[in-house]
Amino acid sequence: MGSIVLFGPPGAGKGTQAQRITEHTSLPQVSTGDMLRAAVKAGTAIGLEAKSYMDRGALVPDDVILGLIEERIAENDAKNGVMFDGFPRTIPQAEALSELTEITHVLAIDVPDERIVERICGRLTCGTCGTVYHDVFNPVPGDGCECGQYVEKRRADDTEATVLTRLGAYHEQTSPLASWYEERGLFHRVDGDRAIDDITTDLLYVLQ
Ligand code: ADP
Ligand code: ADP
Ligand code: ZN
Repeated sequence: MGSIVLFGPPGAGKGTQAQRITEHTSLPQVSTGDMLRAAVKAGTAIGLEAKSYMDRGALVPDDVILGLIEERIAENDAKNGVMFDGFPRTIPQAEALSELTEITHVLAIDVPDERIVERICGRLTCGTCGTVYHDVFNPVPGDGCECGQYVEKRRADDTEATVLTRLGAYHEQTSPLASWYEERGLFHRVDGDRAIDDITTDLLYVLQ
């Protein structure tokens, strides 16, 4: 076994697809964004340091992220690998990761920039179970979230101004990882500008 990386710009659908694919691969989802938001909420030292970067849409420093990851993948449920969502986001992160665990697939969800703002600005999350929804493209079912306890949450950084900064960080710091992983024969690109279910089908096909 080994680990999988879900790659793509902010709002590409990494979290949405990770939630679906984990049901098939039994690899736990490891989202550095979720871990950072939990640290901010808990008021830990890492959370305090990360918050100012997240609020303005900049990447959190590599050493902070790598500290979180090292701790997370030492946990018992990670011993057969994990599904990384939103990590790595820089070349140094990818280099450090390659020393920690074997990566078998990098699944890139390709979405053009002009789709990103509408995706991010309509994003809703269930505050109870974490399921990701969208005002228009993936609405909460009429009878509520499947967990039965829907609590509507919007991320503080999901604003139009922040999206543009995050997209800039993606193009400058994260997108060079595509060729880094391509050179290593691990990179698979799927068209992310389609229905959610069609993308899931393609991703599962790549993993077969
Ligand atoms: P999205 O993919 O929707 O932009 P995430 O939840 O993955 O959102 O990340 C939210 C924020 O957390 C990012 O804007 C960044 O500040 C920080 N972050 C998350 N993962 C990383 C990472 N691997 N490296 C640096 N910063 C990160
Ligand atoms: P990421 O984790 O890459 O930031 P999310 O999975 O949180 O992205 O998706 C961002 C927003 O776009 C969410 O509101 C989600 O419901 C919506 N979304 C995800 N995939 C699609 C898709 N294929 N078409 C339309 N909207 C989508
Ligand atoms: Zn829920």
